[in-house]
Parts: sequence; structure tokens; C-alpha cells
Amino acid sequence: MIDFNLTDEQQAIRKLAHEFAEQEIVPVAAEYDRSATFPWPIIEKAYDVGLMNLNIPEAYGGAGLGLLDECLVAEELAWGCAGINASIGLNALAALPIIIAGSEEQKRHYLGRLTAERQMAAYALTEPAAGSDVVGIQTVARRVGDEYILTGTKNFITNASVANFYVVFAYTDKTKRHRGMSAFIVEREWSGVTPGRKDDKMGQRASDTAQLILEDVKVPKSNLLGGEGDGFKIAMQVFDRSRPGVAAAAVGVARRAMEVAIEYAKERTTFGLPLAAHQAIGFKIAQMAMEIAAARHLTWHAAWLADQGKRNTLEASFAKCFAADTVMKVTTEAVQVFGGYGYMKDYPVEKLMRDAKVFQIYEGTSEIQRVIMARELFKSA
Ligand SMILES: Cc1cc2nc3c(=O)[nH]c(=O)nc-3n(C[C@H](O)[C@H](O)[C@H](O)COP(=O)(O)OP(=O)(O)OC[C@H]3O[C@@H](n4cnc5c(N)ncnc54)[C@H](O)[C@@H]3O)c2cc1C
Repeated sequence: MIDFNLTDEQQAIRKLAHEFAEQEIVPVAAEYDRSATFPWPIIEKAYDVGLMNLNIPEAYGGAGLGLLDECLVAEELAWGCAGINASIGLNALAALPIIIAGSEEQKRHYLGRLTAERQMAAYALTEPAAGSDVVGIQTVARRVGDEYILTGTKNFITNASVANFYVVFAYTDKTKRHRGMSAFIVEREWSGVTPGRKDDKMGQRASDTAQLILEDVKVPKSNLLGGEGDGFKIAMQVFDRSRPGVAAAAVGVARRAMEVAIEYAKERTTFGLPLAAHQAIGFKIAQMAMEIAAARHLTWHAAWLADQGKRNTLEASFAKCFAADTVMKVTTEAVQVFGGYGYMKDYPVEKLMRDAKVFQIYEGTSEIQRVIMARELFKSA
């Protein structure tokens, strides 16, 4: 059976997220973009209204929502500002490895800190010499008695400067390649943990991105997630659940760009007619709407599969790649609809186009999504 109706609860959370975006995010988005400061007051408000930690089970104080629900929220919040959405949503990404592989004790302690103490967390996989090539990471975890000693540098880590703890991927046995990678929960307060310089980004500037430096960090054995060698599998399982959320955020930015382009096309006249009356502009809007709808359908399908407990690796890549490429095209075309004004910071589409680009890069680039698709397709053929 196929049913595209949203439940009353889904409609309610979507409405809540949209109103939050309209009232709390849109009025301040340009200023956070300019100053590139972390949106703490908005995080506090998101906690107050229940828009944080959506995927954390209720048993640990979270909202216990499904991935499709999360996607509905991400689309609305990113419609308001992609960078602020990333700041709000990152706890859910960092919580995923703990939800997937954590022991009961780890879940109670760390997920509980996110929900009860309003803490922040980050997900640290990428390194200066290894992004797409996850197996190429250099960080090592050496077992000494009841501890692991972690050394390495993580790059481009969202929320690195503001997180209270990190999920860090490191090799416990490099000779085993991906089977020798493990995941650890590492506390910000521990000796040898230093968030590095904050990155000065093109877009999504309200979101914090920085290095994370680990110098002989002593991590108790009890902070290993799953068993030794489970890290790569955990990272891949996380991507299947995180990519639809990223796709949903891309849909939100694209939808916002289309909406402002439609408004502008109705107001601006050239050659005695509103832009909307020129077929070339109408076709641009039609193309935008069609691709946004397609991206949303792929996103909902990938999320729905995950909620049904079904494997969604191929569909998560379809959604992430298509939505990322779509938001880049749609925002670029929206700037075109605005003409010279679109290129100016006084109008919203300039920021939307800058915010769009990184969707094709983080959580696996558009090229890597196609690599995954091809692999999955050849495997099943
Ligand atoms: C703003 C931002 C936030 C981020 N947040 C996080 C985070 O919270 N946690 C985290 O762990 N990481 C994070 N990242 C890192 C992100 O996931 C990586 O940047 C991304 O995976 C690409 O890796 P790279 O930058 O090393 O590029 P590279 O892997 O060096 O790739 C460079 C180019 O080569 C292409 N390429 C590489 N290999 C292939 C191939 N086999 N076939 C075809 N093309 C290929 C890529 O698609 C890309 O176009 C973030 C990045 C950014 C920019």
C-alpha cells in the first residue's frame, strides 16, 4: 500500500517547525550569516519547544520520532536557514552511533546528557587527508590496560567548538583496514582534546565547523561503541539514516529559493510585463518546482524505508545526491530570476546559493553518492 498522507502528529510537528523557522530563524538568519556566530539563543528556544534531539528514544528523554518526521522538520528549519538547521540537527547525527551501537549504560549516560542537560555533541570522522576515502583515516587508538590512547586530527567537524562530547572514529588495528576501525565517545574536557581554529565558510555560516585535535587522549574502555572493529560498519549505518535528513534540508533551501523567486517574478516588470509573464522565467519556475517535488519524494521514500527497518543505502544516496544537485541548480536559477539584485546581499537568494553548495560536499559528495549507487546496482544486478 502507498500512502502519502501525513498523520496528524506529522502535520503538527511540521507546522511547529515551520512557525519556529518563520518566527525565530528567518528574522535573524542574515545576521548570523554575516557574523558567523553560533546561534545559542535559537538552540535554547529549539530545546524549549521540543525541536532538539528528535531521534533520541523517549526512554532517554528524546522525542522518539522516526526519520520521516525528522525530514519534515529539517525541510522547514532549513527553509528558514540551512546553517541554523545544521546547528540544531547535529545532535541527532552525533546521537546516531550511540543509538545504533551504544550499550544501555552509554545510551543512558550520553543520550541523557543531550536531553536532560541540553548538551551538544559532534560526529568526527573526516580528517585532513581523508574525507571521501573513509578507510584512509590516520587517527589511531592504542589499547593500554583498560584505556585506549587516541591520537589524530579530525577536519571540518560540525559543532566541534561547541560540543561537550564527540563520537570519534579511529583505528584499533590498521592492518585490518576497514575491519580495524572503531568508534569512541570522547569528552571535550579530557586532557589532549582541543577544538581547533573555526573554519571561515562560504555558506551555512551560522553552523560551527572546526578541527578537532586529539593528542594522547586517554579514553576508558567503557567508551568504545560496540566492539573493536565495528567503527566502519557503524559509520555506514549512520549515513543511511543521516543522508535523508540532509536531503530534506536541501529541499527546504530549494523551496525557499523558489518561493522568493516566484514573489519577485510577480513584482518586477521588464518590457512592460511582470517577469512571471515571460515564458523563459515561467519555465525556470516550473523546472524548479518539478525537481523539488522529485527530490522530496526520493527523500521521503528513503526515510520511510529506514522507518520500516528496511535497507535504504541506494535510496538514501538517490535522495541525498538528487536533492543536493537540485538545491544547487534551483538557487542558481533563483539568482538568475533576480538578475543583478540576486547577486547582492540585500536580497535573500545570494545567501541561499552560498548555503546550497555544501550539500553537494558533506555527508558524502555527489560523486561519492554516485559511486555508492553504482556499487549497489552492480551488486544487485
Ligand atoms: C561545512 C562542512 C561540514 C562538515 N561536517 C562534518 C562533520 O560534522 N563530520 C565529519 O566527519 N565530516 C564533516 N565534513 C566533511 C565532509 O564529509 C567531507 O568534506 C566530504 O566527505 C569530502 O571529503 P574531502 O573534503 O576530504 O574531499 P575529497 O575526499 O578529497 O574529495 C575531493 C573531490 O574529489 C572527489 N572524489 C574523491 N574520491 C572520488 C572517487 N573515488 N570518485 C569520484 N570522485 C571522487 C570528491 O567528490 C570531491 O569532489 C564537513 C564538511 C564541510 C565542508
